Amino acid sequence: MVKKIQVAIDGPASSGKSTVAKLLAKRFNYVYCDTGAMYRSVTLTALRRHVDLSDQDAVIEIAKEISITFQPAEDNQRVFVDGQEVTRDIRSGEVSANVSAVAAIPAVRAQMTNQQRQIACHGGIVMDGRDIGTTVLPDAEVKIFLVASAHERAARRYKENVAKGIPTASLAEIEKAIQLRDQKDSTRAVSPLRQAADAIRIDTTKMSIDEVCDSIVRIIKKALA
Ligand code: C5P
Repeated sequence: MVKKIQVAIDGPASSGKSTVAKLLAKRFNYVYCDTGAMYRSVTLTALRRHVDLSDQDAVIEIAKEISITFQPAEDNQRVFVDGQEVTRDIRSGEVSANVSAVAAIPAVRAQMTNQQRQIACHGGIVMDGRDIGTTVLPDAEVKIFLVASAHERAARRYKENVAKGIPTASLAEIEKAIQLRDQKDSTRAVSPLRQAADAIRIDTTKMSIDEVCDSIVRIIKKALA
């Protein structure tokens, strides 16, 4: 039987994780799981229900109650909360500005981590996030930590927004928001954004998506051999 491994891809906001993870999943015919979309789904639901995000118990209830599902699409992955599509809405500026606070709540993380481990338990998975290599899948056969300068990450996000026709903040505003989110994600008490000791670090600032993918494909092939 063909070996099916776990591939963990972590890194700061807009470091190219999801683009690369999707391409790798396609290439190896693996399932792709965007764990950021799960924290975003909890945040969106809380905002829609006008829940005070500092009311941790109310947010935890939402994390326990909602059903988050994924559906592969041509060049994207569709995300659903209780059967209703939220693919686009979870990317709003309001969700991005509030998701780090929601993701810092330990019981919300425990809930998401359980679901993520279930999704990954049979292998054949490419999972991206902040704590996949350190906490969610500590035994993943391949662990990648993607980084890029904040300026380059903001420029990529800005271009992506323009290309998708999403109303966009200025480049400087995006850079500031990205830095703020990284700071919150790196300094939280539970499962902060951190490179696992056995992860391979790739600085993508001056690399194309194809170059990044090719280097990870080589790493995966070595792990499969
Ligand atoms: O990957 P993305 O930028 O969509 O993630 C949104 C937010 O979700 C992150 O800024 C972080 O606060 C949270 N997150 C997390 N752990 C993960 C994935 C995302 O805390 N594994």
